Amino acid sequence: MDLSGNSCHSRLTAFLEKPRISHVDVKKLHMHSDIKTNKTSRWITGGFVLCLFCPLIFNAEQFAPYNLQGGANWWVSLALIVLGIYFLHLNAKKRWLCLPPAKQLISFLALGTLLTCLTAPHVIIEPEMSFHCIIFFLVITSLLWFLLRRFTLFLLIPCLILGYIESGAYIRYKVLFNSMLLAETMECSKEELLTYATATNISLLLAGILFISLSAYFYIRLLGRMQKRAIGGTILTLSFSLYILYPFVPNACTSFSQLGLVGSYKRCNRTIKDLKRASNAITDTLDKLPSPAAKPSCLPVLKGDEGCVIIFHIGESVRADRCGFNGYSRNTTPHLSANPRLISWKRCVASTPITVTSLAVLLTNARRWKEYTTPGDEDMDATCGSVLDLFKANGFSMHAFMGSLSRQSLRADKVLRLLTSACEKRHYTNDDVMETIDKIGENLDKAGKRNMFYLINNEGSHSPFYMYDHKNPPFTPTLHVLSPNPRYSEAVRNAYDNCVHYTDLFVHRVLQKLEGRPYVYIYVSDHGEYIGDYNGTWGRARATAEKDFFQKSQGGAGVCAFAVTSPEYEALHPQFSRSIQQLKESQKHTIGHEHFFHTLLGIAGIKTEYYNEKLDLCQPTVTPYTGTEPEDWPEHLLNNK
Ligand SMILES: [Zn+2]
Repeated sequence: MDLSGNSCHSRLTAFLEKPRISHVDVKKLHMHSDIKTNKTSRWITGGFVLCLFCPLIFNAEQFAPYNLQGGANWWVSLALIVLGIYFLHLNAKKRWLCLPPAKQLISFLALGTLLTCLTAPHVIIEPEMSFHCIIFFLVITSLLWFLLRRFTLFLLIPCLILGYIESGAYIRYKVLFNSMLLAETMECSKEELLTYATATNISLLLAGILFISLSAYFYIRLLGRMQKRAIGGTILTLSFSLYILYPFVPNACTSFSQLGLVGSYKRCNRTIKDLKRASNAITDTLDKLPSPAAKPSCLPVLKGDEGCVIIFHIGESVRADRCGFNGYSRNTTPHLSANPRLISWKRCVASTPITVTSLAVLLTNARRWKEYTTPGDEDMDATCGSVLDLFKANGFSMHAFMGSLSRQSLRADKVLRLLTSACEKRHYTNDDVMETIDKIGENLDKAGKRNMFYLINNEGSHSPFYMYDHKNPPFTPTLHVLSPNPRYSEAVRNAYDNCVHYTDLFVHRVLQKLEGRPYVYIYVSDHGEYIGDYNGTWGRARATAEKDFFQKSQGGAGVCAFAVTSPEYEALHPQFSRSIQQLKESQKHTIGHEHFFHTLLGIAGIKTEYYNEKLDLCQPTVTPYTGTEPEDWPEHLLNNK
């Protein structure tokens, strides 16, 4: 008994003492391991924070265009290095920032990656931006968690579901949530919309909502369990790793604002804003114009089964002085320069610096646009709508090929829809304008002997001058920054020229598809672009803000305009060969956007009371452009062929 009593006592003592001893032990042990693991993570976190100063310290090439101070200064660098080392020391000592334990960190990264991949359309569209998308997601959700704690879920889940729908719609239908989609949805009937409510779509949606909500719940719960300084450390480490890698990703500066949650939010917000201002002066004016096809018109020289193709290509931001075939010192247009049938108007004056108003002038019989008239330009408003209506009325099958620049603002899309309402179909390009070539080819095969009219309106040389073959850029180095550090202007201009080069290739490929057919290809750019000239002017903001600046500067108003016709077209009718002969003659004139409505009608031989032969470049009686014109035409645009 004693023995057992003793043992009982000792066991009791042991039991009573054990917690005390073990408590202290465990705590010590815990602290020790905590210090050990956290020490490393604190140095890692600190190190990444230090990287923030990288561009200032090292002035590395990839940061330089963004480093507006114009390079590193040795004294500043030295001071920053000393400060940085002191920060590392303090962080290690005071335990400000660290990383969470490995298990938590892995779960955090895994859940974040999963949710991003499911809900950020850019992971699918631009896989090279996936890393950015994931980090963006982790950082923003962590910051939100600091502000809202578990209420973050109420904001997070709807956003994620919206992103999931967007991604799904992109995979299934190649559409993003955008203004053109909205404009089209608004015009759809209930029945048309219900065609998307298939069993597969509904089950995918419900399964997605359930899975995303659960994952988001676990994600937020995980954040709740993490130490605050570990979340802080993780956010900083991730953001700075993104910051360091950011300039290495091609196209990073343009895509950055479109990523993940932020992108979905921005696209939504823009669409709502767009909705509010969609009814504006341009759409109102165009809406009120009568269709030119409402009055009688005829096409006596064509029967309708000649298989002829008329292409009107409205280019984007292409200046005449940067085209090789106009005498630019760099051959940016090798194909067109070598084309013996090229007709180029070296001096063509754009009507406005804005795409939508330029489109309106080019396609209607307007000669100027109200906001951009100068004294003497009165009574030059449009009296009828789109010239495309007349081609449709005279037996042409109408198609429009648009680049991914359409579908970006409801206002522009509404204008485009009004001007292209005669088209049987609008074909949209998703990534590369070259996709259009195959679409045109397929369409031509289907068309047989029908007469076709194609309107092409794609990215061309729109900023940030990205539309070209990045694997084989003809002019290097390139950079896609909207308003670069002057040291890098030439690289941005190289990118601009590469886009012109790509447009040349595009036109060449379309012409190859047209070979053997009677065709007319007319190209004109909507406006020019300032590329660091005019005292460092970039883009077109100054053109809209400063009176007369646009019309008087060839960089903005002097646009590329040319035509290529086929011998087969000339052979169709003697009138056509006379017209083309005259078109060649007209190269000596300074022309304007106002000439294209009438030239299109003239070259096809469409008769209507809206036609004005004084503005038809196919007529010997044509009147050259009489409005305000650039005062600084360069030498190579002044000498006529
Ligand atoms: Zn434009």
